[in-house]
Amino acid sequence: MNKKWISTACTLDCWDSCSIKALVEGSELKKLVGNPENPVTGGFLCEKGYKHIQMRNSRDRLLKPLIREDGDLREASWDEALGLVASKMDSLRKNYPTTSLLYISEFGNSGVLKKADQRFFNAFGGATMPTGSLCAGAGVEAQRYDFGKCLSHEPTDFINSKMIIIWGRNPASTGPHMMPFFKKAKEKGAKIVVIDPLPSETATISDVHLSPKPGTDGLIALYMAKILIENNLADMEYINKNTVGFENLKKTLLKISQEEVFTRTGIDPKEIEKLALEYGRAKPAAIILGFGIQRYSNGGDTIRAIDALGAVTGNIGKSGGGVSYNNSVADGLIDEDFLKGTDLANEKKTYKRPLLGEFILTEKNPPVRMIYTARANPVNQGMDATKILEAFESVDFKVTLDMYLTDTAAASDVVLPVRHFLEEDNIIMPPANHSYINYCNKVVEPPGGVLSETEILNHLAEKLGLVDFPIMSADQWIDRITQPMKEKIDIKLLKEKPLKVPGLLDIPWSDSEFMTPSGKFEFYSETAEKEGFSALPEKMNIQVETTKEYPFYLITPKLRGSLHSQHFALIEEEHTPVVYMNRERAREMGLKERDNISITTEKGSLKAILNLDKEILPDRVMVYQGGWMKKGGGVNRIIPERYSEMGIHAAYYEVVCRVEKK
Ligand code: SF4
Repeated sequence: MNKKWISTACTLDCWDSCSIKALVEGSELKKLVGNPENPVTGGFLCEKGYKHIQMRNSRDRLLKPLIREDGDLREASWDEALGLVASKMDSLRKNYPTTSLLYISEFGNSGVLKKADQRFFNAFGGATMPTGSLCAGAGVEAQRYDFGKCLSHEPTDFINSKMIIIWGRNPASTGPHMMPFFKKAKEKGAKIVVIDPLPSETATISDVHLSPKPGTDGLIALYMAKILIENNLADMEYINKNTVGFENLKKTLLKISQEEVFTRTGIDPKEIEKLALEYGRAKPAAIILGFGIQRYSNGGDTIRAIDALGAVTGNIGKSGGGVSYNNSVADGLIDEDFLKGTDLANEKKTYKRPLLGEFILTEKNPPVRMIYTARANPVNQGMDATKILEAFESVDFKVTLDMYLTDTAAASDVVLPVRHFLEEDNIIMPPANHSYINYCNKVVEPPGGVLSETEILNHLAEKLGLVDFPIMSADQWIDRITQPMKEKIDIKLLKEKPLKVPGLLDIPWSDSEFMTPSGKFEFYSETAEKEGFSALPEKMNIQVETTKEYPFYLITPKLRGSLHSQHFALIEEEHTPVVYMNRERAREMGLKERDNISITTEKGSLKAILNLDKEILPDRVMVYQGGWMKKGGGVNRIIPERYSEMGIHAAYYEVVCRVEKK
């Protein structure tokens, strides 16, 4: 049998975007392995990566379009389903503003080509599109104020660190290709510190684990900066040369007291002081930030406070140092104007991502009459999912593109099956964790004529006569939108192996040419001020605290084995959510392991099973998010629509709850 290895990459919404080699025998996909041409992700794939074959072959995968009839979804031909969608869109544009069509897309599957749907809706006249973020937006805005944009160190650089602070992030579960570099740094003598309100697999390799109250990380960072200044450990040479606003920052730091730190963070200030002194003396020292840390209403200020800590110690721009969060290393390599066709729209309108349900239910100008969802499962993943489901039910016509009958697909009137990434060509730009571009070659044929998203758009554009949406194959699209890249990157070679973005500095900001208005690191940001925020990072409180009625903070991280809700597709049976709680606290409440309980927030209750864990602190509980509502899960049903103004970012972790025996 003819065997060949094909270069591709994982398209899941993950820090790592692993480069993959797929082994094909004849026309059959045999296995997936990490591609060693990528020095960060080459060694292995995670559990979710190895599940791609199972996801592709699952018997629950949708292979035919579905149309709702008499309340139920029935199978239909592509002609019938696409004809129905096109006729509804045609009728909408004849009778209403085109912005009464709501287009929802997230990052369920990445890839440059996927964004062509934005051009489609702009060519249609303009739909209502999302703004803000459910993911990383508060931190991205924060780093724009401080550095000019987000740039991260390659994980390979962390082996040069003397200390690594992993803050609000659990890479062992959510981006495991950093772990080998942390372990190597540790072997070379680096101290590993984890700051996370929950126990985690990453914390098991740490020397120190601080577990603050949720949403208080910014105060910890500012207090650490204060201690460093008081102990003459601020790097004044670096500060004087490369930053603006240090004196303003210093004045505000002096007001922070030990009492305030203890009351708000729940951590003995002495422990924070010890950490501050160690961080100040360990040169170079890296800080690695997670997205969890900014899932609060003060999320942006938290990231700004930690950025400031990195700059106070002069760790910015140094090998083994930095404050690494996200990565925007590939700006300008794709013709985004052509891809998105932003200027084509006659009408423009946006909705705030964290307020999806509220928007659909209350918007009048114009009301939402149709929803088109791609690469997303908002009925499960949005905030206040109960409200989103109610909102979906109130809209005349909903179309969802997905491989599975998710909660969103099940609430739709037409469901269009789509291809797995192994069944189509695409390009994946560098993710947060490295600087490699991947070409996803088509590895295998799709089953039974399933169309790609681009082909679906081609058919709809033809039916609707959208002259500004070019009818092109994936190859033609890629050829067109990679024009800017071609001057720097050999696309033929990219099809064979991952390639690093050329011309990058080895270490971000090592040239000290920050992309802020002043050209320096900005402790004090006039841009932030002009945009309605504090010029300095603030030690803001979050908006909720535990009370007698709701005595626990509720934190809802991702499960190791599923990217958000996606891999719950493989779980066939009902799965009652599990609440993880402190063993001693449960005993005091008369609760025991495996008890049937309810967990209640201001938004309602969810049935759950109790799991006891001595590592979790007594004032907080944890539930993994992602379980499907129609199978009994869906913790977002009880998460309120709270958000941070900076980045219009969903504050998923800013919620308190109570737990009761059923
Ligand atoms: S989910 Fe992330 S770590 Fe896992 S294979 Fe995909 S990109 Fe790699």
